[in-house]
Amino acid sequence: MATKTGKEEKTCPHCGGPYDEKAVAAALMTCPACGYHYRMEPPERIASIADPESFVEFSANLRSLNPIDLSGYEEKLSEAEAKAQMKDAVVTGTCTIEGKPLILGLMSFQFMGGSMGSVVGEKVSRALLKGAEERLPVLIYTTSGGARMQEGIFSLMQMAKTSSAAAELDKAGVPFFIVLCDPTTGGVTASFAMLADVIMAEPGALIGFAGPRVIEGTIRQSLPEGFQRAEFQLEKGFVDTIVPRRDQRRIISTLIDLHRS
Ligand SMILES: [Zn+2]
Repeated sequence: MATKTGKEEKTCPHCGGPYDEKAVAAALMTCPACGYHYRMEPPERIASIADPESFVEFSANLRSLNPIDLSGYEEKLSEAEAKAQMKDAVVTGTCTIEGKPLILGLMSFQFMGGSMGSVVGEKVSRALLKGAEERLPVLIYTTSGGARMQEGIFSLMQMAKTSSAAAELDKAGVPFFIVLCDPTTGGVTASFAMLADVIMAEPGALIGFAGPRVIEGTIRQSLPEGFQRAEFQLEKGFVDTIVPRRDQRRIISTLIDLHRS
């Protein structure tokens, strides 16, 4: 909304109330009036979920090559790196939640739309395999536009790779938790994001495979209200539960206790 001073005044996209940066940050990047969940980047999420100073990153220096020699991809990666302050679209590490150790993975939509290329696939797989090896629960926050087109077939292979790593974790009898964040779509939804023991979602998150416009164009029918939102996916059985941010730490801590054998 433009004010008299010509400055852009931000408002909440859900309730239209004023956007007060401090109040939103204090409410874990949610609207204090209506609870709308703004997108959150990995550093803020780590601060909101992990015990202070407990997060230790691993596989931090993996960087993508240009496996199909696509022109301009290296430049795009460098731009994304500068913008998101990350080397690719996922951060993985170990941490504790209420003193309980686990492996935490966090995707960023800022880095090329959270797309899954070979680095995201490798880091997610390593996190899952480390969980199996060290018998540590794995928690991953997903947000993704899908496979990274710039890596062609190598991106699609990450779906099989992360899925088999999730199967190893399952075989080891170690719990796997997912929190689907806005938006989680494409190859991430179609692989590890739907393979967890408990699939949580943030309120209002868009969750699906193809986007609504593609589906409408294909089936030539208009889609129901709220299609592909977390609440709709809960009703349809794709999601086990919707957990608002303020409750996530407590609920995940309880889930870790419940799954401890
Ligand atoms: Zn609001």
